[in-house]
Amino acid sequence: MSTVADLTVPEELRAVATNLRCEHSFPVQPPHGSLLAPGPCSRCGVAWAVCARDVPDRLREPLAALLEVVSSVAEYAAERGYSTNAQTDATLSVARAVNGGAADV
Ligand SMILES: [Zn+2]
Repeated sequence: MSTVADLTVPEELRAVATNLRCEHSFPVQPPHGSLLAPGPCSRCGVAWAVCARDVPDRLREPLAALLEVVSSVAEYAAERGYSTNAQTDATLSVARAVNGGAADV
């Protein structure tokens, strides 16, 4: 598992898109987890606390697609030494809200 501090902006956006698209499966059997503290998703590795379970199903794919598009734009800009723009910053705020504002993705 990585933390947001370890990720570039494009990587963070893609990680949240993956979080939105995954049909999460959290282990609740020791040693991987418990009912009170499920372990990370066995499919994508996201932590239970930030699995975006409160995002309605109808919004998951459109949000994931938006995050990926902006991720590509941000990656293109970063490769050319441009700073992030307002679109990227706003989308990053959405991604972090989806992610519960937590540091683990
Ligand atoms: Zn998952």
